[in-house]
Order: sequence, then C-alpha cells, then structure tokens
Amino acid sequence: MNESVYRQACAYLDEHREALAEDLMRLVRIPSVSVPGDRNAPFGENCLRVLQETLSMGQERGFVAEIYDNQVGKLALKPGEVDVGFWGHLDVVPEGGNWEHSPFDPVVEQGYVIGRGASDNKGAVVGLLYVLSCLQALGLPLKKNYALYLGTDEERGMADVEHFVKYFNPPKMSIVTDCGFPVCYAEKGIIDARLVSVAPFTSNVVELSGGLASNVVPDSASMTILKTEKALSGLAALPAEVEAQVEERVIRLTAKGVCGHTAFPQNAVNAIRVLTDAVLKAELLPEQDLNILHFLNKVNDDVYGTTLHILSEDEISGRLTCVGSTLCLRDRHADLGINIRYPVKERDERLTDSIATACAQHGFVMDLERVSAPNHFPLNHPAVQKLTELYNQETGQDSKPYAMAGGTYARKLPNAFAYGPGFPGGELPKELFSPGHGGAHGPDEALDLDRLLRALKIYIKAILLLDEMEL
Ligand SMILES: [Zn+2]
Repeated sequence: MNESVYRQACAYLDEHREALAEDLMRLVRIPSVSVPGDRNAPFGENCLRVLQETLSMGQERGFVAEIYDNQVGKLALKPGEVDVGFWGHLDVVPEGGNWEHSPFDPVVEQGYVIGRGASDNKGAVVGLLYVLSCLQALGLPLKKNYALYLGTDEERGMADVEHFVKYFNPPKMSIVTDCGFPVCYAEKGIIDARLVSVAPFTSNVVELSGGLASNVVPDSASMTILKTEKALSGLAALPAEVEAQVEERVIRLTAKGVCGHTAFPQNAVNAIRVLTDAVLKAELLPEQDLNILHFLNKVNDDVYGTTLHILSEDEISGRLTCVGSTLCLRDRHADLGINIRYPVKERDERLTDSIATACAQHGFVMDLERVSAPNHFPLNHPAVQKLTELYNQETGQDSKPYAMAGGTYARKLPNAFAYGPGFPGGELPKELFSPGHGGAHGPDEALDLDRLLRALKIYIKAILLLDEMEL
C-alpha cells in the first residue's frame, strides 16, 4: 500500500472533522423514524426527506446519485456497475424517554455528536460520504467502482433492502457499516411464531399479558384470575417475584423478571416464565387452565428450545436460542409469541416442522409469522481475511471474524458482511453522560468523532486493499 497516499487521506479526513460533524447534525435534525407510508414515501415523509437530503449532499460533491422507488439511495464514484457497496441506514428508532439533550436538535460536546441516530447509523453514512470525497479529492486511479448505499427502513423491518434486492441490481460485494469491527461474517436466522392453544381458557382467566416486542425478554408479565377459594388458598405458595393484589372479584398477579435481548437471553429472567411457573406450582386455576399453562411454561424451561425439539448448534454460530417473549389472550385462547435465533447451518423447515409437531402433541397450533434466513459469508474469503488482518494491524489487537445473533442488512443482501464502524469497549465520559445514556437506542445517543475518524481511516485502507483483490 502506498503510505503517502494513506497519509494524505488521513490529513483530508482530519481537516474535514468539523464539516463532517456539521453534515451529520443536518441529518440528525430530521426525525426519520420509519413509519408505514404511501407509494411516494413508503416509510413516511421524514425518511424520504433524509434520503433526499443525503443524496443532494452527495450530488453537490459530484457523485452519481440514484434513488430506488424512494426506499434506497446510492451515491457512486462512477456511473455503471458497482463492485463494492457500503451500506448504512438513515432511519432511526423513536426517541423514547429520559433525554437530557434534545433528540433532534443535536449538539457537539467534548467531541461527541449527541442526538437520535448520531451513531446508529447516520454517523457512518456521513463518514462514508467523506471517505468517497477523500478518494475523489486525491484523484486515485481506482480500478473498481465504489458506492454508498442508503437505506430507510432498517430499524423496523428491512423492507427497503428486500424491495431493492427484488427489483434492482445489488453491488458485487456489500459491506454493511452498521456493526462492530472486525468482520461479522455470519448472522443467525430468525423465526417468529405464535403458539395458540386449541382449547380456550375457562372464565377463571380474565386477562393475560406479557412482553412488549418479540425481540425483548420481558421483565414484567401479568394475569388476572377470578377470586375463587382455590385461588385464594394457593396465594401463600407464590414466590416473592410474583405480587398478588386481591380485589373484590378478581386477583391480579404481576411477575417481575430481568429484561434482556432475545438474541442473548442467557442472563435475562423471563417474567412470562416466572408467572406461568408460579401459577402452576400454586395451582391457582382449574385443571383445564393449568394444562394450557403447563405447555407455555415448558416452552420457556430453557432458552434452547428443548421442549419444541429444536435443539441445534453449529461451530460457526453456536446454539439455537428460543424465547417465549410475548403472551396474550387471543379470544379466550392462550397465545405465546416465540422468537428463535437459529444457527446458519440449520434449515428453517426442520425447525418449523418440529415446532408444529410439538404443538400438536400438547393441544396447540403454530402460527408462523416470519422467517428471516441466516447470512453466512465464506470465512476463507480473501476479503474477510484481509479486512480482519487490517483491523488487527491498525489496532494492535488479535481479533477474529465473528458470528452474531443480531441482524444487519447483510442478511438481506447477496455476498455481504458487516465491518465496523464500532470498536469494542470504550467508556463514555461520566460527567457528560448519566448511566444508561449515550448508547445506540437509548437516550442521549452519542457519536464519538475521534472513533469515527479512526474507523474511516480503516475504511480508506480497506478500499485500497479491495481494489487490488479478486472479489
Ligand atoms: Zn443500525
């Protein structure tokens, strides 16, 4: 690699640090939460606006801009086919509560850009825009064509990239810049299904609810039952985690757990499980209701799907996980939503067949909601090897390509893997951020400009490497 070219590139990026922060804040000011939209703005007006704004930033710099059905955008160095596409997203999660700063009126403090979307994922998008500008400014004779692709529905359902892949040509290779270094070469598959009891509950079960979203292990679940002699006499057997409120006609039960992500459920405590287990052990309900709860409880016996006969593991992505994460009454039937993260070598049909069979044996039916196939990029691909080596050289680490249970655009794109821009570790300054603040989906989301610039310098070297490589 030409060292002097690299040094010029670093100087360019350092000189443009302020401009980069300004451009990032321009985008953060648009509250681009993806919402159901219409034909013209499929993910809402704000997602379209942020996409157009970013495309015009690129056009001002002379990049080849293209917009695909107002869902995905592209900024390429040259016209024609793209060899390597860098993918980021411009939509953000809703602002949520507890902000000490203003989510959509960003500021820079101590080198942090603070605002919703600053780090996930607008910082990487603007950063890549500067990487392309830098390559252009240096006038390097690149052999391949590079582009920045912009999505607008990553956080809600990735319908943007699904649509793009269906109707348009993706680049030969895609690098998703919405993750951590070094290379994430495998993402587990995801299945969402609902398990619904064939028999209804008796009128003893008045209300049942637990869980907010399929990908969250719930920290709270509740059930309201009729105040019967049997129920009252069982209350003494309830554990401390389940609170009972005795009212005139009913008893309200509330179970507490410890919240977590269903992709990493091992250290969470599922409140739905706490609730069903307690009601069964205390025998608060008639036999017919306990029979229904028995299966729901068994599904959450462990987080590996033992009861559903879907134990699975491979050397790439580890063990399958399965969490019954939402619970409600559907008419008078029990309805448990399960979220499964399965290994890349597993087949989804085998799993859904097993689940359907286990359900049938226990008086339940399975209602399949979503299968998102796993992603697996060959580990021995030279790009994976070289980009990992590059990261290790730059940071003095010895990290290996990794697999994960979360999901990025890489799972929707052919020939794709995630690479950066996050670095492991790194504490936020305590005088600037309260505990639990500053993270990607949390309050006071922050982007560390120093770290982003380090990542961009790695991307520059990555492009110089890829340019010499057979893809
Ligand atoms: Zn993201």
